[in-house]
Amino acid sequence: MLQKILDYLNPLNRLGTMQYSAVFPLFTTLMSVVVVEFIAHVVLKNPNAVGFLAIFLFMALIMYFAFRDGIKGGIIVTLVTVGYYLYIIASRGYTGAQLSSSMQATFLLAALYVIITTIIGGLKQKIDLLIGKEADGQRRLRAIIEQLPVGVIVSNRQGVISQVNTKAHQILGKEIPLGFVLGSKPLIAATPVTTKSEQNPIFPFFAMFKRGVPVVNKEFVIKKENGSEAHIHLSFNKIENEKNKTIAAAWIIQDITDQIELEQRKDDFINMASHELKTPLTSLKLYNNFLLRTLVTSEHEPSRKIVDRIGSQVDKLQKIVEELLDVSKVKTGKLVLNREPFNLKDMMLEVMEMYQSPTKPSRLQLLSYINPEVVADRFRIYQVVSNLISNALKYSPKDQPVLITLNQDKDRLSVSVQDFGIGIEADQYELIFGRLYQVASHKRQGIQGFGMGLYICKEIIERHQGNIWVKSEKGKGSTFTFTLPKATA
Ligand code: ADP
Repeated sequence: MLQKILDYLNPLNRLGTMQYSAVFPLFTTLMSVVVVEFIAHVVLKNPNAVGFLAIFLFMALIMYFAFRDGIKGGIIVTLVTVGYYLYIIASRGYTGAQLSSSMQATFLLAALYVIITTIIGGLKQKIDLLIGKEADGQRRLRAIIEQLPVGVIVSNRQGVISQVNTKAHQILGKEIPLGFVLGSKPLIAATPVTTKSEQNPIFPFFAMFKRGVPVVNKEFVIKKENGSEAHIHLSFNKIENEKNKTIAAAWIIQDITDQIELEQRKDDFINMASHELKTPLTSLKLYNNFLLRTLVTSEHEPSRKIVDRIGSQVDKLQKIVEELLDVSKVKTGKLVLNREPFNLKDMMLEVMEMYQSPTKPSRLQLLSYINPEVVADRFRIYQVVSNLISNALKYSPKDQPVLITLNQDKDRLSVSVQDFGIGIEADQYELIFGRLYQVASHKRQGIQGFGMGLYICKEIIERHQGNIWVKSEKGKGSTFTFTLPKATA
C-alpha cells in the first residue's frame, strides 16, 4: 500500500506517459492552504507568522507539480497560491505601505512562479514527447523485426541479448531469454560447418564478432532440444554509434535445412545421372571410333564427315559428364590426387597442341622462361591448363592471340594465360571460381558454359598448395594465373 502511494507520488514514474492530472495538484494545494492556515491560527496563534512557510512550501509545490503534471499542473498550483496570497493580504487587514509592498511582492512571486512553471513544465513535456517518440520508434522497430522471415537476435558488445524475435526462438528450437549473455554458457549445442577452426559450441562465431572480424554467411549445425538437427546460416550486422564504435550487433539467423536437403538431393541426382551417362557415352565413343576407322577407306565423304561430327559431339558430352562428376567429387572432398614427376613445359605444349587446328595458324603463344620438372597430378594440372586455355579462346575474338607464360619467383612456379577478350568486372573475380557460376553479362551474350571449370581448377590448385586468381579489364582481356609451390618441383 505504502509502496503504491510512493509510486504514485514519484514523478519519475510518469516520465513518458504524457498524463497531466489537474485534480491532484488542485486538491494537494488546497489541502496545503488549509494546513498553513491551521498552523497560523491554531498552532502559532499568529496569522502573520507563516509568510516564509507559505512562500517556500508553495514554491516547492509548484516545482513538484510542474515536473509531475507539466505546465497544467504548475499553473493550477500557481493560481491557487496567488489566490491564497491575496486572501492573506485581505484577511490580515494590511493598509498603507504594508499593503502596497505585499501586493508588489505577490505580483513578483506570481511572475516568478509562472516562469518556473513554464521552464520546468515545458521541459517535462518536451522530455515526455521525446520519450514517447523513442518508444514509438522502438515499437515500430520491434514490429518490423517480429515480422521478418529470419531470426533476429540483438545483443550489445558484451553479448547481452536485448531483443529476440519469435522466428529466432522457432529456428533455435528454444526460448532465448532477454539478458542472456552470448558466449557465457551454452545457448545451443552447435558445430560450425564453414569454418572448422572457429569451433565454438557456446555461440558460434561470437569470438569473431568480439575481435571485430566480420561474420558473414557462416553455417553451423545445431542439435535442438527435441533431438532434431538443423542447418543454420548466420550473419551479423554491426550497430555503430556516431563515432563508428561498435555498440551492438544484430545476429541474423536462417534455417537452411530444407535448402541443404534439396541441394543434396539435386547433387545426388546429378551424380547418379552422370554416372549412368558415363558408360553409354564410352561405348558410343568406341563405336564411333570403329565406324571412323571403317569409313577411312570409304568413298562416301558425307558419311565420314557425319561420323566425325558425332565423335566430336560425344567428346563434348563426355567432357561435361566428367566435369559434373568432378564437381561432385570436389563437393564431397573425394577428389584424389595422383602425384607423379613430369615436365611442366612439355605438358603445356601438349595441351597447346590439342587446341591446334591443322588448317589454321595457332592463336596460342608460349613464353617459357624455365623448364621445370614437377611432382604433381599430371592429369589434373593438364585439366587446369586446358580449362584456362579453352576459356581464353572462348571469351576472346578469333583474331586475337592467347599468351601463355611459364615463370617462377622465389618460391613459386607460375602459369599465366592471357587473352585480349571480353574481360571480367572486378566484383566477379572471386565469384567465377564458385560452383556453377557464370558472369551474367556473358550469359546474356549467349556464350555457352556451365560454370564448372574454374571451380574444379581452384580445388585442384589449392589441393596442390597453390593459388589461382584472375586480373582483368572489361573489354580489354583477362589474365588467369595459377601458382604451384616450388616444393612440387
Ligand atoms: P564456363 O566457361 O564453362 O562457363 P568456367 O568455370 O570455366 O565455366 O568459367 C566461369 C565463368 O567465368 C564463365 O562463365 C565466364 O563468364 C567467366 N570466364 C572464365 N574465363 C574467362 C575469360 N578468359 N574471359 C572472360 N570471362 C571468363
